[in-house]
Amino acid sequence: MSAIAPFVFGGLRSRVVFAPGAVERIGEEVARLGRSRALVLSTPAQASDAKALADRLGDRAAGVFTGATMHTPLEVTETALAVFGDLGADCVVSFGGGSTIGLGKAIAVRTGADQIAIPTTYAGSEMTDILGETKGGEKTTRRDPAILPETVIYDVDLTLGLPAGMSATSGLNAMAHAVEALYAVDRNPIITLMAAEAVRSLAVGLPGVIAAPLDRGARSQAQYGAWLCGACLGSSSMALHHKLCHVLGGSFNLPHAETHSVMLPHTVGFNAFAVPELMAPIEQALGASAGIALHRLAAGLGAPSRLTDIGLRREDIATVADIAMRNPYSNPRPFSRDDIVAILENAFAGTTPPY
Ligand code: NAD
Repeated sequence: MSAIAPFVFGGLRSRVVFAPGAVERIGEEVARLGRSRALVLSTPAQASDAKALADRLGDRAAGVFTGATMHTPLEVTETALAVFGDLGADCVVSFGGGSTIGLGKAIAVRTGADQIAIPTTYAGSEMTDILGETKGGEKTTRRDPAILPETVIYDVDLTLGLPAGMSATSGLNAMAHAVEALYAVDRNPIITLMAAEAVRSLAVGLPGVIAAPLDRGARSQAQYGAWLCGACLGSSSMALHHKLCHVLGGSFNLPHAETHSVMLPHTVGFNAFAVPELMAPIEQALGASAGIALHRLAAGLGAPSRLTDIGLRREDIATVADIAMRNPYSNPRPFSRDDIVAILENAFAGTTPPY
């Protein structure tokens, strides 16, 4: 009988409320944290939802800031911090995707404010203590316990309007967190269980969402999977896939979720050669070897499949590889610069991965 490999499990520290209509409990959740003046955050596109949420909060709302934007630029954080201070707010409620939740984290880490995150995409930021910020066009990432939202409300009804294309790419962005948790250098049996369940849930939920975007059952499966994926991201070290996506997003401004969608089959197809036994949950859920299965899933969801279609120029591939080699993350399969170039070439052309 083989022994359980040694591991460290840090626990899951957020309160998670997962229920249809759960957004109605926002007042209770603010009070539960002992807070009484929430600043509601959103992007401009979700401003009317944020205002409706502030109305629901009534006296417990200090105000609304609707200027959240991609990559958490410092200028936006500074403006939001001024609003937070002027209104005498004592917590933030982040309503939206990773961009809005990033702004809430940026405020919390500077002020000690509690956060309630209400995610409306599948990106998973709400479950992590990771904050990526940009200053002068340069993106830096840090981890801090103060960055993790105290409370997360998953209300499936808030995802019904997420367009099909964004649902597909956001769901594959989530899937990448679970997949890399399966072979993470610091994996542990609990997170492995969650990752396997995440893959299973997304594998049924995402095709259902694309077939019928208003199907609350499919949406619920996708959102449940996304929660688990976020927890995987928050508890595990990510590997080559996330490294390449960070370079493509950070240095070449490629769109976040789409980049994950395009890259995932290729990075996983590369890594699966080294750890086929760890990829079993993907193969069980999707019915083929990991890279090929994810390639088929992405195609079936109508997600973009080529880097050329999302803004990379072929002549940039060499630079991406150079940057990725500078400070590589841990990875289950050793790789050379030539390997990176080959992965990027395949992702550029959208060919089926070898494994
Ligand atoms: P996003 O938050 O940028 O949202 C994209 C657009 O979709 C926005 O205009 C938003 O208002 C809109 N939107 C969101 N939900 C909607 C809905 N239900 N219906 C209609 N429109 C909706 O996109 P994202 O992919 O969720 O987040 C990407 C950002 O999050 C990136 O900056 C990424 O780096 C960050 N991120 C961080 C972490 C972390 O752990 N720190 C994890 C994942 C992503």
